[in-house]
Order: sequence, then structure tokens, then C-alpha cells
Amino acid sequence: MPVIDVDLSSDTVTRPTREMRQFMCDAEVGDEQKLEDPTVTLLQEMVADLLGKEAALFLPSGTMCNEIALRVHCRPGDEMLAHRTAHPIHFEGGGPAALAGVNVRALDGERGQYDADAVAAAIRPENRYMPRSRLVWVEQTSNLGGGSIWPLERIVAVTDVARRQGLSTHLDGARLMNAVVATGITALDYAAPFDSAWIDFTKGLGAPVGAALAGSRDFIKDAWRLKQQMGGAMRQAGIIAAGGIFALRHHVKRLADDHQNARRLAAGLATLAGVALDPTTVDTNIVIFDLRGRLDAPAAVAGLLERGVRMGAMGPRTIRAVTHLDVDADGIERALEAARSVLGS
Ligand SMILES: *Cc1c(COP(=O)(O)O)cnc(C)c1O
Repeated sequence: MPVIDVDLSSDTVTRPTREMRQFMCDAEVGDEQKLEDPTVTLLQEMVADLLGKEAALFLPSGTMCNEIALRVHCRPGDEMLAHRTAHPIHFEGGGPAALAGVNVRALDGERGQYDADAVAAAIRPENRYMPRSRLVWVEQTSNLGGGSIWPLERIVAVTDVARRQGLSTHLDGARLMNAVVATGITALDYAAPFDSAWIDFTKGLGAPVGAALAGSRDFIKDAWRLKQQMGGAMRQAGIIAAGGIFALRHHVKRLADDHQNARRLAAGLATLAGVALDPTTVDTNIVIFDLRGRLDAPAAVAGLLERGVRMGAMGPRTIRAVTHLDVDADGIERALEAARSVLGS
């Protein structure tokens, strides 16, 4: 494998900084299954405050946040409404079916977002033939939608329809803090319309492990039982929770640098003959572009990799690049240099 100089394959590739490692090393710990780990408790309080919910639960991954939330909100045979690109549909190993027994109704819409009319049209009438519509699901930012930010008015509109029809609402906030930094709208305002919401510490925030799910006290009580059941309850987890605390204190504002780098990358790519990209669609740290030259995506990704730049092939002619803590402005220039030689014609 060639040496990777600039890794834009995902914002999950970051390694904890020296300062974060030191902070984790010094964390006070206890048995978290017994609620005796002070560092986990502090992180949960920070996330509950950040998202304006009564309580929060530290979990090993964002995937477990999603799957546990699904199981608390839904009974087997119920239906959830999500955009067709939503993470649980594609990247959770069939978890909604296997773990929650949930039917997923996939909604259409541009850049990973549907609208209130789509929700209203998809909610089932009350009858015994059809699955029971139970949950409305929003992903902020939308990953496969190219890091697009759901406008708050759209969130309010779709969750209003859901609530009026007696459905619950869930926010997959794997990259919520990217939306917060890009718009200046608080995490609390974005999360307020939802019954449950979570953030990931291992994407742009740059921690090595963990995510935290927030909701009402009753919701978190049920979530705790499922955390135990699914093997997500840990012991001296303060060691890893400390990475999340450090990230919330020191790695949020700097997400603006990632957004700037993504815009710079997009602007440079858009000038290349082999690239079809509208740079104004880049809201945060994800750049998705199409190829219009002779290369398909796997060949282009291989060519970039030979030059030390890693991006991901998302489709036959579609590539995804993600900026993060371990890529600086110089790295973006080197990535563009490689892109010019691979995609310039
Ligand atoms: C990464 C991601 C997840 C899953 O988070 P993990 O911590 O990797 O399990 C869920 N939803 C979205 C939108 C993601 O990008």
C-alpha cells in the first residue's frame, strides 16, 4: 500500500492529539455499569446540557445510539421514516431489521433531505393491514447528502407533522456540531424538536471512541437497559469518555477550519476538466463530486492513492472527500496537486 500523505477518506481517521491522550491518561475512573465513573457521568451531563435533554447515555458508537434509539421508540412491525440515504439503511448491518424488527420507509429529496409534505404523505392511515408509522428520523448533517445542513425551519416543519400524528422523532447528530459551527445555530435549538438526539465524538471532534445519546429521563432509563442487553455497558470507561470531554472543550470551534478546507478543496476541484462539482453545495466538511473524464471512480481513487491522497469511491463515477483535524491547508494544496494530475483532463 502506498504511503498516505493526505487522508480524506473520512473524518473518522483522526488520531487523538498528544493533549487529548494526556487528558485521557489522567482521567478519574470507576465502574460505569455501577454509575461510578465520574468522567463518564460528567460527559453525560455535558451532552444532556448541550442538547437540552434531561439525561444522556455514553455509548461505544454512534451506530449503537441509533439502534438503541430505534428499539426504545419502536416495537417490531412498526415503521420509521428516513431519507433513503440514512445511515441505518446502509451502514448498520441490517440493524433496524435484525435488532428492532422495524420496517423502514425511505423518503426522497435533494441532498439527503426530505420535506414536511413527504412525511405527511408517508404516514400510514390507522388500519391492520399496514405497518404502524412510529418514528421520523433526521440526519444532521446528511452524510451521503454531502454534509448538507438541514435548515432549522425544515426540521421544525417535519417534526411538527410527526408530532401532530403521534410519531416520535430522532436526530442522528453524528455531525451535528459541524452544522452548529457552520450556522451559529445552537445544538440545543437543533435538538429541541426531537425526542432523542445524539452526537459522535469520533467524527470531526477527533476522539478515539464513543458517542452519547440524549433524551428524557424515561427514554434514557429504557436505553440503559438495552445498552446492558447489547453488551455496550462498560467498566472504567472514563478513559475513553475523557476523549469526548476534551473534544467538546477544544475541538468544536476548530471545525470551522475543516469547513474552510472543504470549500478550498471544492473550489480547486471544480476548476478541473475531469470533475463535475458545484462548490456552493459544500455546507460543511464533506465534498462529493462526479467524474466527467475518461476515468471511473475506482480508477481515479487508485490514481490519487498512488500520489499519497486517499478519497473514497461512492459510486461508479462519484467520489467523496472529507476534511478533518489531521488535514491542514497545506494538505489540501497537496491533495489538489494530485487531483490536477489525475483529474485535470
Ligand atoms: C458515522 C455515522 C454514524 C455511526 O457512527 P459510528 O460512531 O461510526 O458508529 C451514524 N450516522 C451517521 C450520519 C454517521 O455519519
